[in-house]
Parts: sequence; structure tokens; C-alpha cells
Amino acid sequence: MIRLMTGRHSLNIHGSIVSIVSFLFWILSALISNSASAASATSPEAADAVEITYEIEVRIDPVAHSIEGRSVIMANSSEELTLVLGRRFGVLSAQVNGTSLGPAASMGKVRAWRVFNEKGLPRRIEVRWRGELTPLDTSLDHAQTLGRDEPASGEAGTFLPDSSGWYPYIAGKLASYRVSIELPPGQRAIVPGRLVEESESADGYRAHFEFLAPTGGIDLMAGPYSVETRTMRGTGGKPIQLRTYFHPQLADLALGYLDSVKGYIDLYESWIGEYPFTEFSVVSSPTPTGFGMPTLTYLGTEVLRLPFIRYTSLGHEVLHNWWGNGVYPDYAHGNWSEGLTTFMADYAYKERENPEAALDMRRGWLRDFAALSSGQDAPLSTFTSRTHGATQIVGYNKSAMVFLMLRDMLGRETFDRALQAFWQDQRFHIASWMDLQRAFEVASGKDLSIFFDQWLTRGGAPVIRIAEAGRAKPGGSAAAGHHRVKVTLEQAEPAYRLSVPVAVRTAGGEEFHTLDLEKTRQVFTLDVSAQPLQVTLDPDLRLFRRLMPDEAPPILRQVMVDRTAATILLPESGDVHSTAGTLAEKLQHRTPTLASGTETPPAVPTLVIGLEEQVDAWLARHRLPARPDVVRGKGSAQAWTVSRPDGVTLAVISARDIASLAALTRPLPHYGRQSYVIFNGSKVIGRGAWPTRAPMVKLD
Ligand SMILES: [Zn+2]
Repeated sequence: MIRLMTGRHSLNIHGSIVSIVSFLFWILSALISNSASAASATSPEAADAVEITYEIEVRIDPVAHSIEGRSVIMANSSEELTLVLGRRFGVLSAQVNGTSLGPAASMGKVRAWRVFNEKGLPRRIEVRWRGELTPLDTSLDHAQTLGRDEPASGEAGTFLPDSSGWYPYIAGKLASYRVSIELPPGQRAIVPGRLVEESESADGYRAHFEFLAPTGGIDLMAGPYSVETRTMRGTGGKPIQLRTYFHPQLADLALGYLDSVKGYIDLYESWIGEYPFTEFSVVSSPTPTGFGMPTLTYLGTEVLRLPFIRYTSLGHEVLHNWWGNGVYPDYAHGNWSEGLTTFMADYAYKERENPEAALDMRRGWLRDFAALSSGQDAPLSTFTSRTHGATQIVGYNKSAMVFLMLRDMLGRETFDRALQAFWQDQRFHIASWMDLQRAFEVASGKDLSIFFDQWLTRGGAPVIRIAEAGRAKPGGSAAAGHHRVKVTLEQAEPAYRLSVPVAVRTAGGEEFHTLDLEKTRQVFTLDVSAQPLQVTLDPDLRLFRRLMPDEAPPILRQVMVDRTAATILLPESGDVHSTAGTLAEKLQHRTPTLASGTETPPAVPTLVIGLEEQVDAWLARHRLPARPDVVRGKGSAQAWTVSRPDGVTLAVISARDIASLAALTRPLPHYGRQSYVIFNGSKVIGRGAWPTRAPMVKLD
């Protein structure tokens, strides 16, 4: 079974902007696609033989919020097909080989027809439809834009997501397409693919696009764009058209974006292989959204103005043209593309910056993972796409770290060679984690089944500790000045097979060793060159593991992502209460589970919100640590975490007055990685994480 929506990737801007992909639609579509077509679509061969093509003509009027279209679908396959169109549109005619398709069945937001095979002939399906689009609402935030799955249109912009059913499509099938779009003068439109031709006259704008590789769906964007174009030469001199479709107020950013896109295409062509398309466009959106699709990325105007986007998210979205939109993940068996893209974009940029920046990113990932409650740390093989914070922590971060461990094990050269071969073999195919494993096995000549099996099918993470460490007598034949350390490592049952980095500090400096741990308790003897003083476990955090309490001091995100977290609002009613409630809801992306402020705090992670005096009184009453010195008396509002004596995390938000509390609603959700944040109004004036300590044993 394949995913029916496009290879659209939601962009991560601060880690807290969360996408909501319509699973309802996915499930519905999976139900109505018959099992025969679903099975054939999972084989890579199915992606090669183009069985379905769409020839779509649409006319859109953003002022009248209307769409009118005609589509001819050619199907070369002989099985029964399901034809789907959004229910909000009126069908003017629907025919297969000249015969009316009759009434459709209604299922949620879509209508569906079963299209039977007639004597095995290729089928020509023609549909004419017309309807209203939802007026564009620019006040929506990212999550709302994504969650709506509605075709929205207005003078400032039009976005017709594939999942809205804005054009008739065959469920469960990849298809190639040609799309002609007509708009009033001044408007420009784009869909993923090659811009074949365009024209503008007093009557309006027309553009014709084609996408000839089989793909999963079509998103359409339009707006009052000014377009900048630049041609670059890719591998072998192939011309690649780079464009910005920007609202006029962003015109001065266009050249910078074009430069950056060229840089990323050069980088990934030399690293992986030829860019698979003929263009790449950066398209601005009037709503604060972020998507990646084949050949383009669609970003909110405010997002595009953020200076770091060009250096982070843009590269991630360009890379998705290889991983995700060039090779399609086999969603039924887990989406590997977000982890690999995070590793080769976001993480790679940190590595290029300096080792400290890369370490910071790994530490952030492991801390976020430590903040998950059990049950949220699902196996990687179950990740399909990001729906909330917890799925990102697994599907993006854990996955990226698995690729890091694999590269540490195989070496950079072998690792890159495997990816290049994977790209050569799987371009425009559906590929699974198994296919990736095979590519790495062929390149390295190693059996990697245990590695992939434990990291993909097991939830959670290994917990490793140094059970004992001590000096040992060197062997009888050892030369003078020779020293030995005995280290006993322990891990929980069932044992992972791990290469555990260990640092031994000696009188002569730091020495690094890798211990091959495969049992729950194992003793290692290490030769070192000077008097050993101290042994530290995985000091650079290169291993995906559950951090020890000292390594993972509490951060604000714990009460944000943990579904069991409780919230205490001080006081129990009134204006402050409702402002605090709104803040809690923003932080947790759900209706908070309220607990009483007068009773003993519950035994689950707890968020406490109130004004200064109330918060201080509450902490004192429950014999909890008072406001920490680092935040005391500073700014108009403060948030900090406390690890309670029973190990449970408490996050406290305290404001001087109701206005200072209300000012946190927008910025605070972006600071989940912090242990404390100090605000003046909505401006952050101080923040940080409580200090950490790697698991270490001093030798006496
Ligand atoms: Zn992505």
C-alpha cells in the first residue's frame, strides 16, 4: 500500500510548529483502494510502468473563490480502480470510455466511483467539475493550515492541497500528469514539475506543467507572484531552472534564495548523484506554513524572512528531492526519508560548523527523547509522518542518530558509497528500510541485520551504565609504563549489540576506546599508556541511548509532549486562570488535564502556571525548591523546571501580572529545549539548560 498524498514534507521551523497530516483521509483512501492495486503498487516495478496519466485543465478565480476543471485520466492497467473527487465540487460529467459513471458513493469529504475493467481495454476517464473554494484565511497558523486540508483561495494566495480532492484522481496509484492552469491577470500558479510554457495577456495568465515520473499527488499554489529565474548547470551540464515565486514585498530576498538553492543542489549532486528534476522553485505562502514537494518548497512569507531559513530548512527541503520525492519511502514499513534528510541536511550543516555544534544537536535529540514518556517512544519502523512532537523525536531525530551510528561503524567513505548506489538503484521507486539495509550491506560486505533489526523494531533506547571500573594489573610481559583498566558495562534485558565509546582519562591525557557490548553485563580490559584516572561512558553522545538523570536534567518540553502531564492553574478561576489555561493549551497542543492547586501535586509531570506570589506560596506549601537564583527577580515572567525528589518533572511558569502572562503565549512554545527562560514582555532576555554530567567513574 502506498501513501496517497504527495511526497509533501512539513517543515520544521522551531521544532514546535507541528504538522497535522490528515490520517483520516489516508485511512479512508486505504480502505477504498482494493487490495490487488494496493499490493501491486508496493513493488518497485509498479512505479516504473506508468499506468495512470492525468491531463488536467483548470480555471481558478481567486476573487470569486471558484474553480472549474476538466481532466482526462488514461489507465493502462486492467484492475478495478477507485476514482475520487472532493465532495464539495459539483460534477458536470463523469464518463469512462464514453459511458456515464453514474452516481458516486460519498465517504467523508470525498466521493468515490468504482471503475470496473471492461474487456481489459485501456480506460479513458473524463471528468468535468466545478465548485467553490474556501476563502483564504491568513490568520490561520501552521498547524491549522495543515489540519484543514481544504482548498483555499484569495487574491493573496491559493493553496489546493492534494488531500482536498481538488482534482479527480485514482486512489492508491502513482501517476504522471500534465496540468494547465488559467488565472486572472497578475496571478501566477505553480504545481510540482516542469514549466513547459506560460503566457500572459489582458485575458489572464496560463501555465502548463508536466510531471512525467510517476508521483503520489498534486498540490497547486497560486498568488500575485513576481518570478525570478536563474538557470544553473547540474551534473553533466544539464540545465536546471531555479525560480522564486515571491509576493512583491519579498522581492529583495529572491537573489539570495536562488544562490542558496544552487549551493544545495551542487552539494547534494556531488554527495549523492544527479538532481532528478529540471527545476526547483521557492514559493511564498500568505499563511505561516512550510512544505516541501518535488521540485519546490512552499514557505510562509514571514518564514522566508527569517534569516536562518536559507541556511537550514531550505537545504532540508532541497534534499527531499532525493530522499522522499526522488526515492519514495515505503510508508507501510516505516518512513526512513525524514531521518536520512535530517542527517544529511540539518545535522550535516552543524558538523560543517564545528564539532561543538554537532554535539549540541545530538544532546538536544537525546534530551528530547529522554523527555518522552514510555509508550511515546515507538519503534522507528512505525513512523510514517510527523503528527506531533513525539513522532518527530523518533522519526526525525532517533532516525538521524541511527544513520550517524551506522556511519561511525562503516566509515564515511563506505557509508556515502552505499547511499550513492541506493540512489542509482531506487530513483523514482518505492524503497523500504530493507532496501537501505541491503545497500549498506553490499557496500560494506557486512551483515547488518542485527543493527537494523534492533534500531527499527525495538521501541525505546538502550540504558547503559558503568557497573564497575578499576585499575588492573598489566600482563606479565607488559613493558614498564604499561597500564590497564577493567571496565564492567551493564545494560537492560534484552541486550542491544552496541559499539560503546569510552574515554579513559590518564595522567598523560585522554584515550578513546570502543567496546563491543552484546551482553547485559560484560567485562572489558583496556590497555592505556599512562596511569588511568577516570572512565567516562560515551562522552560525545554518539550512541542513541536513554540518558542518565544527570545527563538529562529536566527541560520544559517534558510537560509539553508528555500526554500524561497534568496542569495546575493558580488561581482556580477568573481572568488569570483563563489566560493561564490558554497558555497551557498552546504549550501542550491539547486541552490541559487540570489538577487541583490545593491538593498534593499528582505523581506525573506537572505544569504549574500563576502569578509570582501565588507560585512562591504554592512551592513553599508543597516543600518544593524555591524560585532558582538564575531567574529570581528578573524580567516580567519566568519559566523553569524542577526535578522533584521522586524524580518527576515540574515546570513552573510565573508572571508579574496578567499582561506578562498573556505575552508568553506566542514565544514560550519555542523554548521546549530549555530548563529555564526569562521574558521581558514577549522578549527572551535569558535562557539555558541545567548543567549535565556524563556517566563517569573515578579510579582510586
Ligand atoms: Zn523533512
